[in-house]
Amino acid sequence: MTTAARNDGGGGIGGILRRHAGFVPNPISRRSKTLTSRIRDAQVHISVCPYCAVGCSQRVYVKDGRIIDIEGNSESPINGGHLCPKGAATYQLLTNPNRPTRVLYRAPKSDHWEERPLDWAMDRIAGLVKQTRDRDFQETNGDGTRINRWESIGGIGGATLDNEENYLILKLFRNLGVVHLTNQARI
Ligand code: SF4
Repeated sequence: MTTAARNDGGGGIGGILRRHAGFVPNPISRRSKTLTSRIRDAQVHISVCPYCAVGCSQRVYVKDGRIIDIEGNSESPINGGHLCPKGAATYQLLTNPNRPTRVLYRAPKSDHWEERPLDWAMDRIAGLVKQTRDRDFQETNGDGTRINRWESIGGIGGATLDNEENYLILKLFRNLGVVHLTNQARI
């Protein structure tokens, strides 16, 4: 049998019916028939994109205690199910295996990073903050007016901080006297 003969379903009226009227074995494999959407039966939690002040709503799908997908929430009047490329990458932000999970420290004038314990990093940050504040804190200005101000350090909230986290950071820094503060996520 030639290739043409094999592909035309046998020719004649019978071949046409087999090709166009569905008289052929179902082309869907047994495996394909058992496939389902990976978000089927997942729990859905409504959340907010962490990246910018637009505040697009997201649907977060969870199965067996793990996030398996994040997509735009079609019921949101803000984004109507859409996410920009950044928001659409929220799932990768959470699950990326390349995300650093250990403290990396580069000493002054060093050309390489060293792994350090988290406790060490926290102590070092706290020590440097205290040292700088002890040196630069201003209780009064030139007129003798009390200002309780500290200007040699600032705070920048990252895009993935939410409003609760930024609230706590602002509270801490304001109590220290820091005045140069901002954050990106105003959600
Ligand atoms: S980063 Fe994109 S998806 Fe996220 S809130 Fe802003 S516009 Fe919406």
